[in-house]
Amino acid sequence: MRPASRLWTADVPSGAEIFLYAVFAVFGLMTGSLAGALSYRLPRRQPVMIDRSRCPSCKATLKALDLIPVFSWLFFKGRCRHCQARISPRYLLIELAVMGLFLSALATAPNLWAAICLAYLGGALAVLAVADLEQRILPDPMQLCAALLALPWRYVTGADWQDMILGGLLGLGLGLGLRLGYCRLKGRHGLGLGDVKFLAVAGLWLGVENFPPFLLTAGLIGVVFGLIWRFFAKTPVFPFGPALCVALFLTLSFLY
Ligand SMILES: [Zn+2]
Repeated sequence: MRPASRLWTADVPSGAEIFLYAVFAVFGLMTGSLAGALSYRLPRRQPVMIDRSRCPSCKATLKALDLIPVFSWLFFKGRCRHCQARISPRYLLIELAVMGLFLSALATAPNLWAAICLAYLGGALAVLAVADLEQRILPDPMQLCAALLALPWRYVTGADWQDMILGGLLGLGLGLGLRLGYCRLKGRHGLGLGDVKFLAVAGLWLGVENFPPFLLTAGLIGVVFGLIWRFFAKTPVFPFGPALCVALFLTLSFLY
């Protein structure tokens, strides 16, 4: 039984706690800014590191002033400072969402190191969810980052390595089984290979015992999301990645 998180026990947050939340908010915004760029570039196979950020309309190189998370977008009213072209609010929304994930990680994780791991997983999950929503792809480099982050997470939460490997194998086996089973029944692929890889990554984070609650949560979110998708989008085929991402973050937040 883990001790209740500080969020639920502290009556009045101490100065140190407020400072910690402020630090997490700032790092969340910076990570969110990176997540906005990565979720656009990775699925489109654009260079990630070499290119400096440019305005997609006038190609002006963006300076530090244009790239302050949230504030630049609000200050220049969602327009390019050079050519006045509209800048999609996706960047603002992703920055705010990742900041929210960082703060949530700090509030729910069993210790500070676990909060750092969970927060950066949140950043990676944001990239994966947005890429899958927009381009129907869960980029491999981000899956690899999420898989590698599972190592320090398992260490700081005191879980054993055997359980981590078994969890990964369980996720992989289950993903492949679901994919093949669906294909047999319906004659088309229901679960993409990206989803299968994601289930393996989730297994590394969760281990065997916590995998069923994650699957159940993912299934429930998937059904609700699928209904909403069917209502608004023309096609009945919807990306399953966002439901998996939300379910993994929720499960890790509430089961550890
Ligand atoms: Zn411009």
